[in-house]
Amino acid sequence: MAKWVYKFHEGSAAMRNLLGGKGCNLAEMTNLGMPIPQGFTVTTEACTEYYNCGKQISQEIQDQIFEAITWLEGINGKKFGDTEDPLLVSVRSGARASMPGMMDTILNLGLNDVAVEGFAKKTGNPRFAYDSYRRFIQMYSDVVMEVPKSYFEKIIDEMKEAKGVHFDTELTADDLKDLANRFKAVYKDAMNGEEFPQDPKDQLMGAVKAVFRSWDNPRAIVYRRMNDIPGDWGTAVNVQTMVFGNKGETSGTGVAFTRNPSTGEKGIYGEYLINAQGEDVVAGVRTPQPISKLAEDLPECYEEFMNLAMKLENHFRDMQDMEFTIEEGKLYFLQTRNGKRTAPAAIQIACDLVDEGMITPEEAVCRIEAKSLDQLLHPTFVPEALKAGEVIGSALPASPGAAAGKVYFTADEAKDAGKGGRGERVILVRLETSPEDIEGMHAAQGILTVRGGMTSHAAVVARGMGTCCVSGCGEIKIDEEAKVFELGGYTFHEGDYISLDGSTGKIYKGDIATQEATVSGNFERIMEWADQFRTLRVRTNADTPADTANAVKLGAEGIGLCRTEHMFFDAERIPKIRKMILSDTVEQREEALNELIPFQKGDFKAMYKALEGRPMTVRYLDPPLHEFVPTDPEDIKALAEDMGMTVEAVKAKCDDLHEFNPMMGHRGCRLAVTYPEIARMQTRAVMEAAIEVKEECGYDIIPEIMIPLVGEKKELKFVKDIVVETAEKVKAEKNSDIQYHIGTMIEIPRAALTADKIAEEAEFFSFGTNDLTQMTFGFSRDDAGKFLDSYYKAKIYESDPFARLDQEGVGQLVKMAVEKGRAARADLKCGICGEHGGDPSSVEFCHKVGLNYVSCSPFRVPIARLAAAQAALNNK
Ligand code: ADP
Ligand code: MG
Ligand code: MG
Repeated sequence: MAKWVYKFHEGSAAMRNLLGGKGCNLAEMTNLGMPIPQGFTVTTEACTEYYNCGKQISQEIQDQIFEAITWLEGINGKKFGDTEDPLLVSVRSGARASMPGMMDTILNLGLNDVAVEGFAKKTGNPRFAYDSYRRFIQMYSDVVMEVPKSYFEKIIDEMKEAKGVHFDTELTADDLKDLANRFKAVYKDAMNGEEFPQDPKDQLMGAVKAVFRSWDNPRAIVYRRMNDIPGDWGTAVNVQTMVFGNKGETSGTGVAFTRNPSTGEKGIYGEYLINAQGEDVVAGVRTPQPISKLAEDLPECYEEFMNLAMKLENHFRDMQDMEFTIEEGKLYFLQTRNGKRTAPAAIQIACDLVDEGMITPEEAVCRIEAKSLDQLLHPTFVPEALKAGEVIGSALPASPGAAAGKVYFTADEAKDAGKGGRGERVILVRLETSPEDIEGMHAAQGILTVRGGMTSHAAVVARGMGTCCVSGCGEIKIDEEAKVFELGGYTFHEGDYISLDGSTGKIYKGDIATQEATVSGNFERIMEWADQFRTLRVRTNADTPADTANAVKLGAEGIGLCRTEHMFFDAERIPKIRKMILSDTVEQREEALNELIPFQKGDFKAMYKALEGRPMTVRYLDPPLHEFVPTDPEDIKALAEDMGMTVEAVKAKCDDLHEFNPMMGHRGCRLAVTYPEIARMQTRAVMEAAIEVKEECGYDIIPEIMIPLVGEKKELKFVKDIVVETAEKVKAEKNSDIQYHIGTMIEIPRAALTADKIAEEAEFFSFGTNDLTQMTFGFSRDDAGKFLDSYYKAKIYESDPFARLDQEGVGQLVKMAVEKGRAARADLKCGICGEHGGDPSSVEFCHKVGLNYVSCSPFRVPIARLAAAQAALNNK
């Protein structure tokens, strides 16, 4: 017979997977001899069983639960369901990973109309008895029967008003009895005439089921997706003897941390409420007291609490987040866990614990959630200034950081006004952004779009640049032509100030002061440790010298992806690339391309210099050409004049570039196959830049040339031959013996499938997992936003495959390509570029399949460094 139920003393902290976080720590605290109201845990396996049995609790599980209840009755000397002195319990959820506030808890279970009378008599405290009953009815209705909480809160408010009191502690026993009756009426009404359940056994099974069910409530599903928690873990249920903080002035309930969770400062930090129960502290029913006040109110309890809190911290060797209740002067612990903390606090605590000799640097590195470093790397609002800010709307937190500036409606105007222009702080407001807006986006402090999701162009590009972005604000009424938008009842014209918080998605009126992120000494200390432990190298995706310098500052060991097309959108350059595109003959094309060489070479030189000798992988022109041609009538006219063509002819040429599916169209190496002169121009620019910087600065540069979107060995060979021919020509001209490497991106499934063949021509692979994901799933990143939500809801996908690498499918292609590639070429260097390079779970995967490096946005470099170290330590 399977064991579905564990009494607290039968468990331990090591049994987290089976007992959940709350249950295993209640067990551990019991074994430490701490004052814990006794109880038992129904396992996570029972939760899985419940779902497997069509959402039914099997007889075997029920039997074990009631057997444990009998045991609990013995310990407490009270009977469950007794009408004179009933045993009351709480029913609490508790998954493996803590999911604060995501699932539900029921207190005071076991009361009914008759038992409450006995309870009142036995305790000699009718006020307390009816308070407990009305709370139970409220929670049971809400959690088990999904009768909205607000129905009950409204009645409490009405009653307080009628009685002329402010706090629920001022309500009398009769008031509370009246309240309990009214609550039951609400229940009956909402349940189509069904009475509130009176049999404690029914109540208990209803509650256990509700906790199991809460594992799949929409809040919990979203939380899991955001925190990478698998849906099949399930939750445990804890059934625990009630202790009462609502018994009067020597009772109370509170929460406390052993260190400050927002700064990390050492010392107890917490709050409590006298004469209160459960969530009252968190719910803000009354203003709680700081824990230090407990030293005056109940000095003995305070001292005991301090001692036990320290005991817990020393035992778990980490900052603890504790819940406690005091019943008539007697202290009980109800929960402890390693506390959630901000990134600055996590760093402070980890370093302090190392200094206190409690943990090793290896443990310190594993204690910090890699993703959370994001908070440290972007500007934030000055807290005082933010208090005065008025929120006028909110949308998707597409790229973190805080920004304030003047509103501009076009990329050109943003560019003139912003960084590199007049130096104003700029917020670019667009219906949606396109590749042509890159420069304006670069010049802006923040970007706000009306359309588009978390993976829209604006969001992806903004994250890459580390620029704050709030996207998809459908409430905005915008007139881009008239340069005006309305939001939250206000109208904004060009030049008006707004502020954005890309971490929360909130939009504010006016100019809220921001502060730069500071990288403190401890942060560096953690990063240095991380660098010692990791084996995976970390490069960055960068296209400008400024981004490169920034990434180097953040610890990048080179560039894994330099997207050359981003160098062509500049106002001076785009006419030349357009000229190239519209050319009829090779000669014309070469002429236009020759004009581009100095620009491209200049960029490469500046980037090689910013890299100070670190390697750079240059990807050749990749996007479909239509992305470069003008759509604006003015621009079309200018181009026509420049080319000596008619406007109609230019338009016709541009229309010719139309593709039904540009993502799978004429792009990547296909461009170089049709127009070899493009590859020639780019090779000349790279080689000349490298040779010159090598001479000027003495860096030992070995250019890495990367051919994108290859699916066939011969295709790569074709382009490679062009590259080699030009490279050798440049070497001869410059009398240089510089070495260079030629490799390819693996981003088409066929390339992964034939990786052994491709490796015969490629010296390195870089997995372009954005395209590889699109092509493997068969849907585009830009369109996925339209249906992914339905997929989450239907539980088909748990996470966005563009944010978190799909290890099962796409990952298998990566793994296979690495194996096949290295079988053909033992020293094949393999890396990943694409958004996944900065996602911790994907980084761990890259470590496991033996990649040499990951490459990510500059702002994610520290995240990747830490994640790589954690991957190495956790997979030793
Ligand atoms: P959450 O996971 O949302 O924190 P909990 O299961 O911890 O939910 O319960 C919330 C609160 O309910 C606890 O902090 C505690 O104050 C109260 N509570 C839970 N069980 C008991 C109990 N057996 N006796 C007294 N209070 C309890
Ligand atoms: Mg809790
Ligand atoms: Mg690609």
